[in-house]
Amino acid sequence: MRNPTIASTDYTMQPALPSGKLLEHEIVVSTQGRRPAPAFKPYDPTQALSIPDIGALIPDHHVARVVDQLVEAYPEEVLTACYPGGGRPPFHPKLMLKVILYAYSQKVYSCRGIATMLHEDLPAIWLAAMQKPDFRTINHFRSVRMGAVIDQLFEFTVLELHRQGFVEFENYFLDGTKMEADANKYSFVFRKAVTGREAKLKIRIQETLQEIQEIAKAEGLELGQLAEEPAAVELASVANRLEDQVDILTDLIAEEKLVENRKGLRKRHSLLKKKVKLIRENFIPRQETYAEQLAVCGERNSFSKTDPDATFMRMKEDHMKNGQLKPGYNIQMATENQFVLFYTIHQRPGDARCLIPHLEELQASALPMPKTIVADAGYGSEENYLYLIGDEKEPLAGFLIPYGTYLKEQTKKFKNNEWNAKNWTYEEADDRFICPNGRRVVFKKYQEKKNASGFVQSYRIYECEDCTGCPLKESCTKAKGNRQVHWNPVYEELKMKAKEALECEDRKSVYARRKIEVETGFGDIKGNLAFRRFHLRGLQKVHIEFGLIAMAHNFRKVAGFLRSLSEKANFKKTGREQPIGYSLPVFNLGGFLDSPSSVLNLLCFIKPDFAIPITHLLRIAEVFYCILCFLIRCFRSKGNDDICNDC
Ligand code: SF4
Repeated sequence: MRNPTIASTDYTMQPALPSGKLLEHEIVVSTQGRRPAPAFKPYDPTQALSIPDIGALIPDHHVARVVDQLVEAYPEEVLTACYPGGGRPPFHPKLMLKVILYAYSQKVYSCRGIATMLHEDLPAIWLAAMQKPDFRTINHFRSVRMGAVIDQLFEFTVLELHRQGFVEFENYFLDGTKMEADANKYSFVFRKAVTGREAKLKIRIQETLQEIQEIAKAEGLELGQLAEEPAAVELASVANRLEDQVDILTDLIAEEKLVENRKGLRKRHSLLKKKVKLIRENFIPRQETYAEQLAVCGERNSFSKTDPDATFMRMKEDHMKNGQLKPGYNIQMATENQFVLFYTIHQRPGDARCLIPHLEELQASALPMPKTIVADAGYGSEENYLYLIGDEKEPLAGFLIPYGTYLKEQTKKFKNNEWNAKNWTYEEADDRFICPNGRRVVFKKYQEKKNASGFVQSYRIYECEDCTGCPLKESCTKAKGNRQVHWNPVYEELKMKAKEALECEDRKSVYARRKIEVETGFGDIKGNLAFRRFHLRGLQKVHIEFGLIAMAHNFRKVAGFLRSLSEKANFKKTGREQPIGYSLPVFNLGGFLDSPSSVLNLLCFIKPDFAIPITHLLRIAEVFYCILCFLIRCFRSKGNDDICNDC
């Protein structure tokens, strides 16, 4: 229903015509009836608008409604578990969660921005029931309170989606992306640099200790045994012993009467004091700093001073176009039907070594194990294949994961490459290859190689019997001796299994969906939601923040799905597309204090706590008042065609 036309006599509906030549021209045109003067719909911004229920202004399948429904379904005990109890009553966790999730779905990530939404954004005002938590309260809830419950809430959301049939846990499309941390780009600390500085410091400490030993020997001082590579504690002990000697020398200087002797004592005193200062103010703090930095690094090669949990890694989004490493996190995210099923945050840049920790966390969660894991070639390592196959009788999950050279192997160039041992003749009975020159490449030894994660790979090393004088050697190998072939039989067998699965007709289409599944999820989060950088610091807070954005993405998808279903249903029913918009009548009531709604607004403005308990009472009165006003206005405007049409 549209706004009723205002019957006020002083309200000008026709704009005043300009004077002069133009007036004459307009009048001529107007009288000729070719071009009537423009007439607008009534508009008076000074009039107060009374809205009986702001919830009715939210369209049916708005994302705020989805957020409201799903958060209302969350178990109360999970949300209240993060409150210790006692003290001033806090805002309800469901209110806080709804507001934050809605803000994330609207690309608002700063707590001040979320607080502003509570004053300006209608769905946010509705979700918060007109309550207005401060930006500090919002931030505290997001970064502290949510830490303990984010996983449970995310799992509950996904299980609810599963219950409603949005996801089935059939195919688990997994991929990783790197996202910039909220840290300075130039705050890097590299392990290699720290190790180098530490080694130089050790040399300097040794030299200084040697000098101290020599001084002590020459002066006949008692310093005891000095360690060759002393730790900070031992250095402090050396400094203490030197200080004792300095004190003795100070006393001697005071007692000494002869000027010449005093000069000599002062020289020794100053030399020892300098060494003490060097140890206390340079060596010990630097040694402690380096030890601390290496401890923060852990297994990583770098970290950021601004966010020590962030690791420097190469990002795809390189706006500086110089390949500079930036502090960030590696996000492993799985989707199905473009809904985020699960995610983990990692500190190492490579995807291959993130699969096992990711799946271990999935197993520890309340979510069911998917039937098939679909991922790109970055995950196709021997370690990962063995983990997925698990126990032969009870495999962890089926998988569609190609290995690194899978696509390359399909090419003509690879198949025709005569230098590749895979294309050589293998004589199984004698366990040997025949090289392009017709010579035998025989088994020589076993070799084990350990990768960065500690996984041991076993290789069979084959070597050509004799490559001397071979005219093909230059093209065949760069080795000085005979050509060697490193063959990993376990990995080759696993690769064959992966290849069979990928080439199975039924599953080809599943793997083809990978590009429109998880990549689309990243695209939506990074592109549509403009979430390309974290806004909180530290691994735990980053985990919370990505959980929120993943939930917001899921809610947006549900809302979009419901909206498209509704549009299709409308189209079937009416034969035309019907825009979904605001449908509630908004009554023009005239003056500011003319209605109970205005009284309510005024009370809310003066004292929000006072206004809330009487909301229901006033709302009933307001509805009656609005109906009455509407009827009176219709009665007064009887006979006025414009108004009747608008009504
Ligand atoms: S270099 Fe050795 S392995 Fe290679 S083709 Fe010649 S003989 Fe065969």
